[in-house]
Amino acid sequence: MPTFVRTDKCDGCKGQDKTACMYICPHDLMKLDKDGSETGHEMRAFNQEPDQCWECYSCVKICPQQAIEARHYADIVPLGGSVQPLRGTDSIMWTIKFRNGTMKRFKFPIRTTPEGSIDPYAGKPAADMAKIEEPGFFCQENGYRAGDRSELINL
Ligand code: SF4
Ligand code: SF4
Repeated sequence: MPTFVRTDKCDGCKGQDKTACMYICPHDLMKLDKDGSETGHEMRAFNQEPDQCWECYSCVKICPQQAIEARHYADIVPLGGSVQPLRGTDSIMWTIKFRNGTMKRFKFPIRTTPEGSIDPYAGKPAADMAKIEEPGFFCQENGYRAGDRSELINL
């Protein structure tokens, strides 16, 4: 299910240049509609290509206004089911609305690592740019088998 921004809840992250959903989306799908020409409302974000959505729900979880829902494609759920999060400090409550009006709620714990605090290169040696042309650059010194260009050529 791709994501859908509710314009009645979104506040455009209070006019910042890059909104939280734009910052977090791994596929750069979220766009801020500054002049309202695309959503009919100024300063609202929207998912500009729902069919390209990875459905990772990072935007759903990071939105400070809880303005992003997950909705199924209209041909599958023509009468409008939705999945809406309510994020707390240590858990997230998902409200599932079925098309017949049935509501279900599920509560799950969420990661408490502070946003932006993960350093994926922590503890790794700094790259030696003088070796950038060498096979195995970076990974060789860490004990992994280095790729050898000649092996590929001889295949
Ligand atoms: S993160 Fe939420 S409030 Fe901020 S622009 Fe995106 S949808 Fe709107
Ligand atoms: S669910 Fe993931 S891929 Fe889809 S718009 Fe949100 S952040 Fe981007």
